[in-house]
Amino acid sequence: MLPRFWRKIKYRYDIVGTVCETCGSKYYPPRNFCPICRRKSKMKEVNFGDKGEVVSYTVVHDTPEEYRMMKPYIVALIKLDGGPTITSQVVCDESEIHIGMRVKKAFRKYFEDGEDGIIYYGTKFVPES
Ligand SMILES: [Zn+2]
Repeated sequence: MLPRFWRKIKYRYDIVGTVCETCGSKYYPPRNFCPICRRKSKMKEVNFGDKGEVVSYTVVHDTPEEYRMMKPYIVALIKLDGGPTITSQVVCDESEIHIGMRVKKAFRKYFEDGEDGIIYYGTKFVPES
């Protein structure tokens, strides 16, 4: 049995969203349909790139059981250079994070799943320099 994770691999590894070719609106997560253009929607997949700027952030101290080893962690609102603003974890020191900080995408191991040894990777961000 393949975990659902593998079927979504593309969306976890790349920041893929959609752009409406009719009006230019960008969507992340991807949409099949542009709410502005409705029937005139012409959706195309785009990769929004791997760099951006921290717009806002929260330091999360209360973490679910499986993430306990990396507690506390930082969740930031990141404005990608390619357009949209997304939410992602930023891996850096709590004293280092600030609004306007340049960050880039990195793959990080989430956790290993018991006996199956399945490793869950996800996109996170790290300081750019
Ligand atoms: Zn549109």
